Amino acid sequence: MIKKRYIIFLFLILLVSFYLYTSNVQRYFSPFSSYEDPLETKFEYFSLGRYPDAHEGVSLLTFDDVSYATSANDVMKVKEITDTYGAKSTYFIIPRYGGEGNTLSSNGDLVSYLSYCLSTGDEMALHGYTHYPTEELKGKSYEEQLELIDKGKEDLNVLFGPIYGFRPPSFWKNSNTYKALASEDFLYCSSASIFNVFPYHPKEFFHPFFGDDIDIIEVPCFPEDYFWDVTSENFSTLYFELITRFESCQKKGTAFVVFTHLPRLVNLDEATGRYEALEMLENYLEYTSENDIWMPTMREYTEWHIMFLELEINCRESLNELILTIDSQKDISGLTFFFDLPDVIDTVYIYHNGDMIYQNDDCASDEIIII
Ligand SMILES: [Zn+2]
Repeated sequence: MIKKRYIIFLFLILLVSFYLYTSNVQRYFSPFSSYEDPLETKFEYFSLGRYPDAHEGVSLLTFDDVSYATSANDVMKVKEITDTYGAKSTYFIIPRYGGEGNTLSSNGDLVSYLSYCLSTGDEMALHGYTHYPTEELKGKSYEEQLELIDKGKEDLNVLFGPIYGFRPPSFWKNSNTYKALASEDFLYCSSASIFNVFPYHPKEFFHPFFGDDIDIIEVPCFPEDYFWDVTSENFSTLYFELITRFESCQKKGTAFVVFTHLPRLVNLDEATGRYEALEMLENYLEYTSENDIWMPTMREYTEWHIMFLELEINCRESLNELILTIDSQKDISGLTFFFDLPDVIDTVYIYHNGDMIYQNDDCASDEIIII
């Protein structure tokens, strides 16, 4: 009798697991591996800065649902604020919002303003094709998803050049989405996780059967748009929640991807006659810039992360000298060394791919070196 119960129990577990797996459980969850810090920062005589130029943390601004229906003026309002604080933006664009006929290129003012943003260092990324139905990729085969992603990317390619990032409409994605993105040479996907996790390779846990077919990096955001409905009444509560979330990411060393929707962000509060959400964005950027937070595009952050993952550093000491050799084919500028040298060592040499890039024979024990 006990045996029979045991088998039924096991069967139920299997059934539930299968349901969770096939019903896109990874929409808000992440593989276990993503909870652990993938970067090696602690060494015997120094630690590496997690971010370039000794920055204390990272904040990534992303604006979803930019489409033909977006007014160039609205993007201008955002840009004015981000420029003030030196923050870069990543715009997730719907190339044909609501239907094939609604092309982004039909809004010439917007396209030229976005091109200007691109020229100043912002990023244009893909957010579905029509975003209709809202969960556009749901229930679609690999071929169908590939076709939509390919068409969307082509639209943006023509207007803005190479496209590196993708955010699935309403975060709906599965292994076929990753496979399609990888075959379209995307660098990263930014969907969601309800936990503060590090960027990860989806193939490591969710899709071990797909192997190299889904060679892409996932940089998830916390799926809460704090800017969705900001009013004078809830302003301080939302702002507090936003900062708290940022701080918990910073403490752990994970990136805080700020998730917003452009149409909601530029909403004018009729009761107060103010752009409450934009004011909250401004407060947030004031806070991050005062705290020396790095504010790059999603692409810049992902490339930095990949560089760091692949970094090889070897350390050799002899008498009063410390010799560091760095092997990396990627751009390592900004890499920061926080030294903690014993008294006997006062000379430091740093080599990059065989070339000496730094020499100091009078190093302080707590020297900070930025490459
Ligand atoms: Zn969207």
